[in-house]
Parts: sequence; structure tokens; C-alpha cells
Amino acid sequence: MRQALLQAPGKLELRDVPDLTPGPGELVVRVDVALTCGTDLKTYRRGHPKLPMPTPLGHEYTGVVAAVGEGVTRFRPGDAVVAAPSAPCGACDPCAAGLENLCDRIDGTTMAWGAFAEQIRIPAHVARKNVFLRPPGLAPTEAALLEPLACVVNGVARLDLTRAETVVVLGAGPIGLLFVALLRRQGVPRVLAAGRHAGRLEAALAMGAHEVVDLGADASDPQALARAVRARAPRGACAVVECVGRPEAWLGAIASVRKGGEVLLYGGCAAGTTVPVDAHRLHYDALTLKGAFHFTPADVRVALDLLTRRALPLARLVSAEVPLARLQEALDALCRGEALKLAIVPGSPA
Ligand SMILES: [Zn+2]
Ligand SMILES: [Zn+2]
Repeated sequence: MRQALLQAPGKLELRDVPDLTPGPGELVVRVDVALTCGTDLKTYRRGHPKLPMPTPLGHEYTGVVAAVGEGVTRFRPGDAVVAAPSAPCGACDPCAAGLENLCDRIDGTTMAWGAFAEQIRIPAHVARKNVFLRPPGLAPTEAALLEPLACVVNGVARLDLTRAETVVVLGAGPIGLLFVALLRRQGVPRVLAAGRHAGRLEAALAMGAHEVVDLGADASDPQALARAVRARAPRGACAVVECVGRPEAWLGAIASVRKGGEVLLYGGCAAGTTVPVDAHRLHYDALTLKGAFHFTPADVRVALDLLTRRALPLARLVSAEVPLARLQEALDALCRGEALKLAIVPGSPA
């Protein structure tokens, strides 16, 4: 089978390797479609501390079971499946405390990693908890959104939306757009998407935003960013969801929220980043700042249910399908911001 391997930052190689064989409890899946994701892009550009090179890449996928390991009874060869790439161990302290998204044992060595390939092996604990039959008729490009949607389900659940009027989503990349769609679905009266590219803001409207704010150059200045948001919501937003992952966006998000409001800091900043928060305002305006990360098996089931019921308008998220042989080109195009997500199709001829 063919598999993409990242040899060094910016350098991918397509190799022929022996077909995979499943160990006890494991599955081997023939990949129909694997989506690109921000994590893949970051790894491609600068490497990843938990994925020593050379490393396979790709973790948002759907496919057909090619082989099952000893003891697997839930699946048979030929079953079309959807999957999240990780599952909690169920035994560590965070898992015992119900924080399965923060399981100590989730890392590159325990995840199903390497979907930019004709086949991927799914570890036994993931096969047990986070693999499901693909809903009949669901397009593979939408089925492969299970993992990012589960992350966003987890993030939305962190917000108190009971009296929220205006919620601002800052950043109109794939994750920001999924937040827009889910917040709209949850009945938020006014979802405002703030971002930088006309095409992405158009996608935000198609995915349910009531209004969009084109931040342009204001995106890099927290105060200008907050002024642009407050021009639409003078008292500030009830909640702001930050999906950029840069300090200026974190500060802009905090400056855009109203008294008593909540900020969900969803975009991960590089290790070592610090952000100078206005401590006076945090205290006297009684702001709530929250982080969010990853997903639990319960979030995956909610996401699967949303996909099964076609509850969200997702068509705009995947910009095009690309054969595996053109993966490097696809990742370069994404680095230049030319697409939202691309669907890598290993079975399609180059
Ligand atoms: Zn992802
Ligand atoms: Zn655990």
C-alpha cells in the first residue's frame, strides 16, 4: 500500500509499504477519504513534539474495514466506518475524574495516525470506543468531519448559552466555521463571525452566521479588533469563541466580551506563549475565561448523531478532492490560505 511520510518539515515522501495487519482487537481500514486539518499543517510546517520524524500524517478519515484482529466482534471486513483518532484509557486520573478529553495517555503513540495512506491501523482501545458504522448515504467528505466536530461539540458544551444574545466567533477557519454552525443550531439568537478572508466569511454566512465582520488589518491589533466587534455589539458580546490561536486574537476576544461575559479560548497558541490579560477588567467586569481541548467519547456520539441527521450545513468546509500523490501540493496550497480543508482520496489516480 502507499503511505505518505513526513521526512522533515515541508518534505513529504510517498512510499510503498507492506499491507498492514491488525493485532488483537485492532482494525485495518482502507481509507476512502482523509481530510487535512490545522494539526497536520502545523506538523508539516514545523514538526510536532509528539510525532518524531519520519512520521505518517492525517487523522480525520473514513473508510472500509479491510481486516479485523483477533477478538473483534463489532466489525467485519467490508463495513464502512467513521472514526475518531483517539480514545481515553479509562484508567488515569483525568479519566477517573470524568475528564476523558484530557486523558494522560492520549498522544501520537496511542492514536490512529497516518490516514494520508491507502490503509490505516486503528488501535484496539480506539476500535472499542470511537469507531462506528458510517451512516448510510452520508458523503465520505462529511463523515470524515467526525473528529473536528466532536472537538467543537466539546467546546460549545463549555459555554453557558442560556441567556446569550450575541455570540462572536473569532476566526473563520474550519474550526471557527464549525462553531458558527453548531451555535446557530443551538439556537443562539445572533451569531457573528469575525475573520479576514471574504471567501471564508461568505462560508460563515452559508454555515449559519447571522452577520460577519471583515477584520482586515484590524485582526492583528487587539484594540482595533475589539472596536470592530463592538461597532456591531456596543456593550460587547455575551460570549466570544476564539478560534485563531494567536496572542493578539486572545486579547481581542477578551476585549470584545461584555461585562459578566464568557470567553472560550479555543485556538491553541505555540508552547511558551504568554498573554498580558487586563487584570482590572477581568476582576471588576467579572469575566470568565475558559480553555477547551479535544473530545470525550460522549462528544463523539453527539457529533455522529449530528452528522447522521444532516443537522449542520457542512458542504462548504471541504474545498476540493485531491489524489494522495498530490498531498504535498495540497498542504502547500493550505499553507497559503487557498482552501479551507482538502479531501485526500488515496484511491483516486494521480
Ligand atoms: Zn483534526
Ligand atoms: Zn486516561
